[in-house]
Amino acid sequence: MEYHELTIGSAIERLTRREISAFELTSALLTRIEKYEDRIGAFITVDKAGALEQAKKADQDIAAGRISSLTGIPLALKDILCTKGIKTTCGSQILENFVPQYDGTVVSKLKNEGAVILGKTNLDEFAMGSSTENSSYKVTKNPWNPEYVPGGSSGGSAAAVAARFCCAALGTDTGGSIRQPASHCGIVGIKPTYGRVSRFGLVSYASSLDQIGPITRDVRDAAILLNVISGHDKLDSTSARVDVPDFTKALDFFEKGSLKGMKAGIPKEYLSTEGIDPEVEKVFNHAKQLLTDLGVEMREISLPHTEYVVAAYYIIAPCEASSNLARYDGVKYGFRDRSSEDLIEMYKKTKSKGFGLEVQRRIIIGTYALSAGYYDAYYGRATKVRTLITEDFSKAFETCDFILSPVAPAPAFKIGEKTDDPLTMYLTDIFTLSANMAGIPGISVPAGYSSKGLPIGLQMMARKFDEMSLLKAGYGFEQNVGLSRKFPDL
Ligand code: GLN
Repeated sequence: MEYHELTIGSAIERLTRREISAFELTSALLTRIEKYEDRIGAFITVDKAGALEQAKKADQDIAAGRISSLTGIPLALKDILCTKGIKTTCGSQILENFVPQYDGTVVSKLKNEGAVILGKTNLDEFAMGSSTENSSYKVTKNPWNPEYVPGGSSGGSAAAVAARFCCAALGTDTGGSIRQPASHCGIVGIKPTYGRVSRFGLVSYASSLDQIGPITRDVRDAAILLNVISGHDKLDSTSARVDVPDFTKALDFFEKGSLKGMKAGIPKEYLSTEGIDPEVEKVFNHAKQLLTDLGVEMREISLPHTEYVVAAYYIIAPCEASSNLARYDGVKYGFRDRSSEDLIEMYKKTKSKGFGLEVQRRIIIGTYALSAGYYDAYYGRATKVRTLITEDFSKAFETCDFILSPVAPAPAFKIGEKTDDPLTMYLTDIFTLSANMAGIPGISVPAGYSSKGLPIGLQMMARKFDEMSLLKAGYGFEQNVGLSRKFPDL
């Protein structure tokens, strides 16, 4: 088998048996990146020297019998996670030269387990977007077909995993940015429960919605990474004090060959959504049948506030963003425009030049919606809608263990197709936003292909802190879905 075909799970086995070395594996992936990166544009920074050094260290550890859960495993990180000594740009000009003094908690955890960090992946600026076209550095292409977007905002991570530039990657999900690119790139993505994974060292977009999570080639790898990154962190006051189970145990559940005993809810509002692509519907119905055959009991459920989800999210997220992004004023961080002597002028020019158009649009919307005269009408109201959405889910989970839905209303769209029309772009988030609004976990697993050969994923959402059910059902589904073309040829 070629090095780049190795998942985390299979690479660990070979490294432990000393059939391959971490240095060989890392070198092979770096060579692959050099060869194909121009075609895909997955990375903002590749840390070749650092990765090779970490790989050598991993080989020494393996030789000495010090084997942790990710020793020698090459990974990529979305460039919004702070990495000590490595540039962290958030896809923005304003942080073009920002080099953090510290590692985010998830990064320290990966390093403590022996992972090799290959580099930092491209994203929509400050994770605002659904296509990775809003990066100020480059447009990432979908490895299945470079004319199409990989999805976003973690499109660089998703493309890097699908192109097999790394064993797996981390992304972040504020309204779907792990699940949607995973779906468009034919891989697995899981957004953990809000509070499951520390956000310390994740540059904030919308703090009450952001979560970090795994983007992987299979469900086993998602469980392995989730084991490493989960857990309470005193450096993040919103991280939860709840036990972390061994997520890989979810896979044993299915070893018995069935998912009997699990109940899935089908939200009746989702499939009557206007604009849902018939190919997505077909894949969804097929998936539903497959899960039924595996013993899952299907129930119709109702999420009555679905029609307000997009509107409420696109008030709340920009409000939080406008507050979070106020810190980039040309004084404390990153870029400063030096063309004027006047302080206010300096602020204005720094922000106008440093932020891209989508980020500016969101700051303006958020500032407006939070302003004294409009606060109650917009932000206040949106938070009430958020409570109703959360209650819809609590009610639905009285009758089912997980909720089944498409990830996005259509497969990946063409690069440039929606860039002039932000509203249409926002509407593509309809099925993923609710999990963030309600703080519940969601997974995307590959479920089929469109007639153009682009991947289509299946989403499952569960109760807070019940990632286990998602991994159980996700693994059972993955083992049986029998997809014809597993990964794209580059
Ligand atoms: N597309 C959504 C947005 O632009 C979600 C992005 C994300 O999850 N980071 O806000």
